[in-house]
Amino acid sequence: MITLIHVKAGNYPRILCDSCGRPIEDASEGYVVWDWDLDGVGPVPNLKFIHKIVCDSRPRQPMSMSLEKYLRDLLSNVKYKADKFA
Ligand SMILES: [Zn+2]
Repeated sequence: MITLIHVKAGNYPRILCDSCGRPIEDASEGYVVWDWDLDGVGPVPNLKFIHKIVCDSRPRQPMSMSLEKYLRDLLSNVKYKADKFA
């Protein structure tokens, strides 16, 4: 899940693994999985963020993409420019 962690020093956006609950600290270690949708239209069912391989408990995940691709496409879809805050 994508969430906001509150600590005394502030709030930190994090992605927590929907399998083990620990933060995904490196995008290259993350995977996004979801259930096959027979209709194929609208939000996908059962979207989860997981640690690649180690937390993928299902024998075969029919639909998936790397966390890196998910984040890149997400930022592109909201027209986010990474150099805007550099
Ligand atoms: Zn995990």
